[in-house]
Amino acid sequence: MHNSFHNTCAGRPAETLGTAPVLDPATLEVVAHAAQSTPGQLDDAVRAARAVAGSAWARDAALRREALAQCADLLLVHEAALGELLSREQGKPLAAARGEIQTGARLLRHFSTLVDTEKVIRQSASGSIRALRAPIGAVGLIVPWNFPVTILMMKLGPALWAGNAVVVKPAPTTPLTTLRIAQLLADALPPGTLNTVTGDADIGQALVGHAGLGKISFTGSSPTGRRVMATAAESLKRLTLELGGNDAAIVLPDANPATIAPRLFANAFGNAGQLCCAIKRLYVHRRIHDEIVERMTAIAQDWRVGRGLAEDTQMGPLHTAAQRDHVRDLLRDAQARGGRIHTGGDALGEWPGHFLRPAIVSGLTDEARLVAQEQFGPALPILAFDDADEAVARANASPYGLGGSVWSGDPDRAAGVVSRLEAVNLYVNQHAVPPDPEVPFGGTKASGFGYELGEWGADDFSVRKVLHVPQGATA
Ligand code: NAD
Repeated sequence: MHNSFHNTCAGRPAETLGTAPVLDPATLEVVAHAAQSTPGQLDDAVRAARAVAGSAWARDAALRREALAQCADLLLVHEAALGELLSREQGKPLAAARGEIQTGARLLRHFSTLVDTEKVIRQSASGSIRALRAPIGAVGLIVPWNFPVTILMMKLGPALWAGNAVVVKPAPTTPLTTLRIAQLLADALPPGTLNTVTGDADIGQALVGHAGLGKISFTGSSPTGRRVMATAAESLKRLTLELGGNDAAIVLPDANPATIAPRLFANAFGNAGQLCCAIKRLYVHRRIHDEIVERMTAIAQDWRVGRGLAEDTQMGPLHTAAQRDHVRDLLRDAQARGGRIHTGGDALGEWPGHFLRPAIVSGLTDEARLVAQEQFGPALPILAFDDADEAVARANASPYGLGGSVWSGDPDRAAGVVSRLEAVNLYVNQHAVPPDPEVPFGGTKASGFGYELGEWGADDFSVRKVLHVPQGATA
């Protein structure tokens, strides 16, 4: 049986043996049925990827760059249709969904122009030591539902650039755009370089445990990351784990509330708060705390929540009912602990989907679940502090270490304070910037390890070899 949302294996449609419905999170209607992979089909996909190792693809960087350029072109040719499909299956506003396709094209384009330069570790009278780059071989890419295309492309670009072949597993609730993209890119890539498998945790677990893969690049939650690491240990696979976060933003007393409130809001509520590196805890100096709460509340009340496909929508639904229920639960806990919900947290009348209006909450201590846990949704706790040392200590009292920001009229002072955060992605007067192919992104502590993008990210998809050639040594 063939389904239009079939998997791709060895450059061809994989036979569809079973399907699962994919729901529109705004209407709860079925968008389409996506193929589901069997364990045997996972074996086929890994075999197809492994067959590419040792081929021209693995050896010829120019061939790969040319193919990546064609992939970028293909994404742009189909940007409108892919964007609409992504908006429907994920729920995000159409402009943001189309933005993901454009970001994907931009990332692939970057890797299509990136020429590897040989790195000399040492050159001396006694000889040379050089760093070589080789592909890992077949690698597994596991992607979550919040940014299905951006996150896929952050992995796919460097993985293919470095000469690997991949098996991609999208999240079970957002497989459609990924399957369509793999079908389209089959025109530009040699068979076997990009294979897909679909399914839930079981197929993900089988992918991670598969002996034929040399690496897993995983983005998802910290609890799943722990399972991935345990499973990968069996075959000593290389791992990149991009996990959850609970990013703090710290606003110093010299910041201008009128200027920064809209930017803080956008960085907390973008993608309905379902962003690993969104602002999830906002620490504001007591002197300007109330004004920030007031301004953020006013913005939240004007924020247009609706179906992603509606033209004026600024925020779509939560992606799943479970995610919506989790955020509601945190808000109930916040109220029970004496927190004040200034606005939001309520559903939207006109759609059956998982909507929540953006919530601004104050008056909590750091022990409240909305502060201590990753909400991954549109509910922001705003907390008062008295001095910067206290704010840094409270920001660091978290198991997570993804990102953090400090906002101030004095950027140098802010840079000094933010550098003390136990996190990898540090920002002054901004937060959650779009992925830049030249700039590494990663996490520490429970937010994972390894990097995406930049030189460090490219290294994470390569085996770095070290070649020693002594001067004049003959054998
Ligand atoms: P999730 O961990 O539930 O799922 C992520 C992916 O892993 C999905 O494709 C899922 O099917 C698969 N999976 C589930 N169980 C598996 C297993 N045992 N073995 C292998 N694969 C398995 O995460 P989610 O709910 O889809 O995404 C939200 C989470 O992702 C949040 O915690 C968020 O912070 C995090 N995230 C992190 C980053 C980052 O770069 N650090 C980016 C985006 C999202």
